[in-house]
Amino acid sequence: MLNLCDPRTIKQVMDMFGLNFKKEFGQNFLTDNMTVEDIADACNDDKDITVVEIGPGIGCMTRELCERYSRVVAYEIDSGLIPVLKYTLDGYKNVIVINEDIMKADLASALAPYFEMGKVAVCANLPYYITTPILMKLIESNLPFDSITVMVQTEVAERLAAGAGKKNCGAITAAIDYYGDAKMLFTVSADRFMPPPKVTSSVVRIDLWKDKPIKPIDEALFFRTIKAAFEQRRKTLPNSLMTGFPEISKERLTEMIVECGHKPDIRGEKLTVADFCALSDLIYNELNK
Ligand code: SAM
Repeated sequence: MLNLCDPRTIKQVMDMFGLNFKKEFGQNFLTDNMTVEDIADACNDDKDITVVEIGPGIGCMTRELCERYSRVVAYEIDSGLIPVLKYTLDGYKNVIVINEDIMKADLASALAPYFEMGKVAVCANLPYYITTPILMKLIESNLPFDSITVMVQTEVAERLAAGAGKKNCGAITAAIDYYGDAKMLFTVSADRFMPPPKVTSSVVRIDLWKDKPIKPIDEALFFRTIKAAFEQRRKTLPNSLMTGFPEISKERLTEMIVECGHKPDIRGEKLTVADFCALSDLIYNELNK
């Protein structure tokens, strides 16, 4: 059996199929078996589940997922890698590879049969050029994923797992907190990839809430509030909200922030998801008077 983490083997397989690493697809392949096994192990506590892998590359993690879990559905954008995966995954009966851009995929219909069979989890060494859009697509789909385990650049991982209202948080932190519980698992140095990326990577697991603990009156308005608060993050909250909600006066926005129990000069990054929910509910009432 080929060791798909061995740099020489990776090179041989790529050469065999006449392929080069495509920077535009964020192709940095893992070269460390232990890391691949640790990510696959961390993906989910149950084994009789479907795992959706995004970006299988030449299939090193795909194989480990096939060994551990009942079913694997792998989305790969690069059509050049499809014959490679056919070759490296030969013999695995529990995997299907879909040659599609995950951002364009109709996940609700493609994954419906798998949700009917039981739990579905996501596992990926994500292409870094598109980390946040992929995560937002997955969580905003409102599909009942059980967990999402991803390797991303450490700076992004820290933001995902920071907890809203804490240092390093951003709009994505609040969004992730709304949908689930994110934990930083471990860090992987750049020399464990081929070619090595410029940054360190970390693995984060998000366990999605079955029943969301925070329930804003209007979800779209809740996200608009978060977006407005972080878009002008150097400004105080009333000033950044003013740009996002030009239809409400600064005085009224300040009153609402104080009504929520905050100082008027607070910055958006200090707010928790519950704070954003309370504030967006007040904004909702203001807009629907
Ligand atoms: N899983 C392999 C590993 O860990 O070695 C490869 C990971 S590599 C960082 C990212 C993979 O995602 C590449 O195979 C790339 O072609 C694929 N990819 C990039 N953009 C994608 C997209 N929009 N949809 C699906 N796959 C994508």
